[in-house]
Amino acid sequence: MDGGTAPNAVAAVSEGRLWDRLMAMARIGGFTTEEGDQGVNRPCLSALDREARRLLIGWAQAAGASVSVDPAANLFLRWEGTDPSLPPVLTGSHMDSQPHGGRFDGIYGVLAGLEAIEALAAAGVRPKRAIEVVAWTNEEGGRFAPGCTGSMSFTGFKPMSAFDDITDVEGIRYADALAEQHAEEADLPRRPLGYRPHAFIEAHIEQGPRLEAEGQEIGVVTGIQGSRWFTVTVEGRTDHAGTAPLSLRRDAVQDAVRAIAALNVLMHDPSDVLRFTVGSITTEPGTSNTVARKVVFTIDFRHPDEGVVRARGDAIPGVVQAALKTCTARVHERFTAMPVDFGPTVPEAVARAAAAQGLKAIRLPSGAFHDAQFLVPVCPTGMIFIPCRAGVSHHPSEYAEPVACANGARVLTQALLDLAGT
Ligand SMILES: [Zn+2]
Repeated sequence: MDGGTAPNAVAAVSEGRLWDRLMAMARIGGFTTEEGDQGVNRPCLSALDREARRLLIGWAQAAGASVSVDPAANLFLRWEGTDPSLPPVLTGSHMDSQPHGGRFDGIYGVLAGLEAIEALAAAGVRPKRAIEVVAWTNEEGGRFAPGCTGSMSFTGFKPMSAFDDITDVEGIRYADALAEQHAEEADLPRRPLGYRPHAFIEAHIEQGPRLEAEGQEIGVVTGIQGSRWFTVTVEGRTDHAGTAPLSLRRDAVQDAVRAIAALNVLMHDPSDVLRFTVGSITTEPGTSNTVARKVVFTIDFRHPDEGVVRARGDAIPGVVQAALKTCTARVHERFTAMPVDFGPTVPEAVARAAAAQGLKAIRLPSGAFHDAQFLVPVCPTGMIFIPCRAGVSHHPSEYAEPVACANGARVLTQALLDLAGT
């Protein structure tokens, strides 16, 4: 890389412009809570989504980027390189939010990518490879679950048609919402679905507390931890709370409590890396004076090490069975994702950029899902995390400091130039 190029482009990153754009986007689908927090509810493939995309497109075109949309409605902003025949370096994230979401999750990575293009334009820098900023369709899964359908379609992780019949709460099919989006954006140039980028980098708020708590400015993301989700159904027998002796009961709540206590022992981790959550418990019949005949609870288990994900996850059914005293139980695994390792290429570029800018950085895996995990089989991939207040996300109180947003955009700009070559 030309040693003089990156500093000029990095210096051209504007904290004020990036912040103003984050706040302008936050008004599209924005709401204020009773506590005074500014939330965002911007479902994918909605009129609000399209309004946000139009705003983004206007900025991108003014900066000299060309715009196109693929069949999955992924939106691309291309900053041409000196050799257009080479595969581009891809960056970006998503523009949809959770229904009760915040102002930074997703949109930050898209706007940081645009800010990198702005900085290159202002510094007069043309890298060898084009840089493309992507806004992936439906990352959150807030309207159409599962999420990441845009990136899964792009990479061929699943065929696009696999998502056609997913419906939102109003019964609208994903395929129909996609068709509506294309009709409303018929003036935008179309591009084919998918290609092999030279590399992919996604900038994102950490969605965890580590960077802030440790006084770090940049997270060099090494991969995405593995997840296994289970549903446990404990079945006993309904009895009258006032008459049935405890010794004769088959109380599903009591056995569910025993099972959860045993799972806490299984999942004990003194290093506090493992994540184990029972987030939903339902009982039947669910009245206070009746012994429950059925309890259904969920398990969300995550860890960055594949060996741990396999061993402890596989142990869950046996631990549940062994904990029961009077009931029976079924354990159903409804989702499995093994840990993803980003490898050296992109994380090293991110680490070099942070070091060159004198920013305090640590390496860490991502605890949450991201589009980036689906790019890993396709090209060298990585992520840049910036600190967010108290690690809160998917909530109106989600917040990242303007300086943190700018730091991430500067590291992104330099890492993109490093990977794109000059
Ligand atoms: Zn996100």
